[in-house]
Amino acid sequence: MIAQVIINTTAKKLNTIFDYNIPKDLQEYISIGTKVMVPFGRKKDLEEGFVVGLKETSEYEVKDIAKLEENLTEKQIELAKWMAKRYFCNVSDCIKIMQTPGTRSKQNKIQDKMINTIYLKDMQSGIIKSEKQQKILQFVKENEGVTIPEIELFTDCSRAIVNTLIKNGFLEVVETKVERNPLANKKIERTQKYKLNQEQQKAYDKIESAMDQKKYEQFLIYGITGSGKTEIYLQLIEKAIKKNQSAIMLVPEISLTPQMIERFIARFGKEQIAVLHSKLSIGERHDEWERIRQNKARIVIGARSAIFAPVQNLGIILIDEEHDSSYKSEANPRYHAKEIANYIAKQEEIPLVLGSATPDITTYYKAIKTDTITMLELTKRANEAQLPKVEIIDLKQELANGNHSMLSMDLYSEIEKNLKNKHQTILFLNRRGYSTFVMCRECGYTVKCRNCNVSMTYHGYQNKLKCHYCGQEEPIVTTCPECGSKKIRYFGTGTQKLEQEIKKQFPSSTTIRMDTDTVTKKNSHEQILNTFKSQNIDILIGTQMVVKGHHFPNVTLVGVIAADSSLNIDDYRANERTFQILTQVAGRAGRGNLPGKVIIQTYNPQDFSIQSAQKQSYKDFYETEIALRKQLKYPPFCDIIVIRFEGKNEGEVKALALESYNKLYQYVKNNEEISLLKPMPAPIDKIQNRYRWRMILKGNTTTKINELLNNLLKEIYSQNQKDLRVMVDVNPNNMN
Ligand code: ADP
Ligand code: ZN
Ligand code: ZN
Repeated sequence: MIAQVIINTTAKKLNTIFDYNIPKDLQEYISIGTKVMVPFGRKKDLEEGFVVGLKETSEYEVKDIAKLEENLTEKQIELAKWMAKRYFCNVSDCIKIMQTPGTRSKQNKIQDKMINTIYLKDMQSGIIKSEKQQKILQFVKENEGVTIPEIELFTDCSRAIVNTLIKNGFLEVVETKVERNPLANKKIERTQKYKLNQEQQKAYDKIESAMDQKKYEQFLIYGITGSGKTEIYLQLIEKAIKKNQSAIMLVPEISLTPQMIERFIARFGKEQIAVLHSKLSIGERHDEWERIRQNKARIVIGARSAIFAPVQNLGIILIDEEHDSSYKSEANPRYHAKEIANYIAKQEEIPLVLGSATPDITTYYKAIKTDTITMLELTKRANEAQLPKVEIIDLKQELANGNHSMLSMDLYSEIEKNLKNKHQTILFLNRRGYSTFVMCRECGYTVKCRNCNVSMTYHGYQNKLKCHYCGQEEPIVTTCPECGSKKIRYFGTGTQKLEQEIKKQFPSSTTIRMDTDTVTKKNSHEQILNTFKSQNIDILIGTQMVVKGHHFPNVTLVGVIAADSSLNIDDYRANERTFQILTQVAGRAGRGNLPGKVIIQTYNPQDFSIQSAQKQSYKDFYETEIALRKQLKYPPFCDIIVIRFEGKNEGEVKALALESYNKLYQYVKNNEEISLLKPMPAPIDKIQNRYRWRMILKGNTTTKINELLNNLLKEIYSQNQKDLRVMVDVNPNNMN
């Protein structure tokens, strides 16, 4: 038998398959998906590869497979092949993210964590002299498998006595494996489920019926925050567990908070839950992965990559906040977890449940216009809390009235009122809009990064200039290098400046700030929010990070300092992002018994995304946005494929971009469904001394287009241009 093997190299050879002979003694263990070690080229070490096909004979002279290791399933290999086509990448890159973390051959292998535990060996042999020895033996007899520190603690005897007992054959040491479980120290009360209300029950029943019929179906649970979506997820997962199935629930990385996980533990206990996110150590991730593979943990809660968890007998997949951009990977393979989930749901014939208060325009469109997604709507808040009042303030008018501060008159007086009533306030500022640069006021010179064609960002906290693309740091400038003027103006980070202004206007108020400067590993996003809540700090000032998930019963006022900043980004989703952010921020106000107020300051009070956010009407927003998308030909009416060219030599990059354009153009010129835009320098045309061009293709990614692009990539790679790179990104988050 011959195995067709994909080698796990990062070589530029795209998806080349090599034939290897399967030695007789390995034949019964090898199937599609098996990880094998093979000799490759002139390399001394064996290379790691995956079997992707089997056949009787090969036309080449082939080498033997040397040995085999872990297995993926045939379905996983099928998924990896599909991903490679859809996302224009290597099959081996897709296989990599499906493997147990920490087991790739090039990496140091993760060791199981072993501890020494103590067991009774022989109570009789020899004569026990001391009382202390007796005490220890009695303790171990009652608590076999304890550790030495535990013996020390509970018997108040020293380690030396334990060691003597071991040496004299009374006790023995057994190495046992411990699971590094990130939830290990959590003690949480169990909670009971709620009786679902009518709307929840209707949604639940539909999904349950698909589960019972073992049927693939995609659902959208569309309901405002607090309408009881999570309660439905919990009960669906319970159903899967009762059927002896497992469940994967994806949540955005930032909402994987202890509170959210606790809610699941309270319902199901921690034993059967595995949590996967980027803050786990590789050892923890390895162990969680193993607990899942061994079917010990049947509920997987995690960020994007948890969709690849090696679950057994999957019964349902749920994606909360399905519109969130963190489900799209911005690194190779550039997959979208929602698309992967959909593929797996089809493979396994199970339901896929998407949930959101502000669904992705594409999802909502499919749910109401096509039969690919079933719409399930929740219209009421489950706990009867009221929606906040939203007011829009025209900043142009404020300026005309002579108010140059960051706070409008109305926001100022609302903050004042809130401080008096001892209620809390959140002020939200979109970082992007307040880009924080250094400028000469005489000649307009701005400091740019020497490696990237972008302005350096001023970090007042460290009093340094930093490049956000390559990390380059520079000392601050005091004299303009162009004209010698000393009139250099520093625009501090928006949040910092805002905090200063608040301190000036409300000197007795307490504030806490959350942005990339204050959020560090030690001082997490989570901790800042906890401090805000527990110490009843008056005002929380923050960027995007403040908008997700948390429940602050005492927050009655939310102020948006400038809603416009996300409107000005160069992206077809600018309106959608603005609406989503504003809706989410507004949702922070008045979640408790106190009514909430939201003030949105903007230079574009007529903008429909801001107006819809004021009305808190997703449907209003959707109607206008979908018409625009149709007219301009954007998703859901097509895919946007960004093809990026990158290299050290600008001329070569440009030549490659033009050559690729000409090749593709031949194929697409007669196809009305597809438009190919001429290549141009990317909006940020240099990063880390590499020049960047970009070409955009709009159209439905038919098999034909995929094939063409994949062939083009193969051709470019095979010409082996040393430092030129081409990357293809389907519906990317970032158009740069
Ligand atoms: P969402 O996920 O849509 O934001 P949740 O499921 O978190 O909504 O529900 C919001 C609040 O209402 C939670 O405190 C939850 O415990 C409560 N809740 C949900 N469903 C019910 C129900 N059927 N009866 C009573 N309270 C409920
Ligand atoms: Zn100058
Ligand atoms: Zn840079």
